[in-house]
Amino acid sequence: MAADTDPSNDLPVYVIGGGPGGLAVAAALRERGVRTVVLEKSEALGASWRRHYHRLRLHTTRRKSGLPGLRIPRSYGRWVARADVVRYLETYAEHHGLEVVTGVEVMRVERAPGGVGWLLHATGGRQLTGRGVVVATGYNHTPRLPDWPGREAYEGELVHAGEYRDAQPYAGKDVLVVGVGNTGAEIAVDLVEGGAARVRLAVRTVPHIVRRSTLGWPAQSSGILIRRLPAPLVDRLAALQARVALPDLTSKGLPRPDTGLLSRAREGAIPVQDVGLVAAVRKGRVEPVAAVESFEEDKVVLADGTRIAPDVVIAATGYRRALEGLVGDLDLLDARGRPRVHGARTAPGAPGLHFTGFTNPISGMLRELSLDARRIAKALSR
Ligand SMILES: Cc1cc2nc3c(=O)[nH]c(=O)nc-3n(C[C@H](O)[C@H](O)[C@H](O)COP(=O)(O)OP(=O)(O)OC[C@H]3O[C@@H](n4cnc5c(N)ncnc54)[C@H](O)[C@@H]3O)c2cc1C
Repeated sequence: MAADTDPSNDLPVYVIGGGPGGLAVAAALRERGVRTVVLEKSEALGASWRRHYHRLRLHTTRRKSGLPGLRIPRSYGRWVARADVVRYLETYAEHHGLEVVTGVEVMRVERAPGGVGWLLHATGGRQLTGRGVVVATGYNHTPRLPDWPGREAYEGELVHAGEYRDAQPYAGKDVLVVGVGNTGAEIAVDLVEGGAARVRLAVRTVPHIVRRSTLGWPAQSSGILIRRLPAPLVDRLAALQARVALPDLTSKGLPRPDTGLLSRAREGAIPVQDVGLVAAVRKGRVEPVAAVESFEEDKVVLADGTRIAPDVVIAATGYRRALEGLVGDLDLLDARGRPRVHGARTAPGAPGLHFTGFTNPISGMLRELSLDARRIAKALSR
């Protein structure tokens, strides 16, 4: 039988990245008896969750955020706190007996000589050959700062939201948060609650805002139900629902969006879950302002021509996948640097090379990572 004589079957599967996505795949593979090694560049697994800002809680429910083979403990509550996510990931790896090697960064993946499996180039000149590879290096890999004109010469303090931990260093300061995704919205509220003197929020595209739950029904469950319905229908219903559920903040500088909720989500812009932004804007404690256009030495220039001089600018402007170095030679990335195949699907010229966690689904990423883990494990154990 061909499968038994295939020399690559003695080799492990390598999973690159020890976040939820990588751990989930490793557990699903192990359950199928496939030897799997997780390579994690940081000193501990779950590195992203160790770094996130302190007030963060999952905005997906505990029950719909657990990874394959182990529920998140009920005692962590419905909206799991960041530190408990880290605790859960540690328990998860232990529970499944996962082989996680920390402090090893994979720099490049290429076909192994002879075409059997994949060769990984890693820290310290390591060369590792695997029968399969799962890239789980994260959607939020490298902080992205727009190339604003004048940015380099700006004399004020400019930090990326990835560096933000809590409001304490900003107490008494005038802060401009740039970008109103979930992260920007939450940081703005944290700053207000943490005693910042003034908080402005620069908005380029008005976001869709949804309540985290309504009468006990979580927004995530709606996301799961609607995600495959026709966008025009959902867009109309969501607009109607928003009018009932949320106050009109137009006079405060945050009008209702003129694009549809599901249409936007399908382009990767998931709605902002309200964890205090609506109330803060209504009370004037967070002031929406126009998008950032450029910088002058000591000023920030906004799209409406206003010049402002905050003490600190926090750019909640997202992340890059940064997969070019890792797999850029393999012709697997689209124009935006995202893998063209995902989950169980592999590219014709790259059998056994899988990607997980490079979409931003409205149904919850942890849930999708779990579903993909099982599919990838099935594909790799064939
Ligand atoms: C602020 C925030 C809140 C979120 N909240 C939710 C939520 O409530 N619900 C939900 O479902 N989803 C949420 N997500 C989305 C998603 O679930 C998380 O980002 C999740 O951590 C993704 O898991 P991952 O394993 O794909 O990536 P990551 O958790 O980012 O893990 C990737 C790992 O790979 C390692 N790595 C990277 N490059 C290499 C390399 N070359 N070699 C070796 N190791 C490498 C990194 O150190 C990291 O440990 C949130 C995301 C963010 C940013």
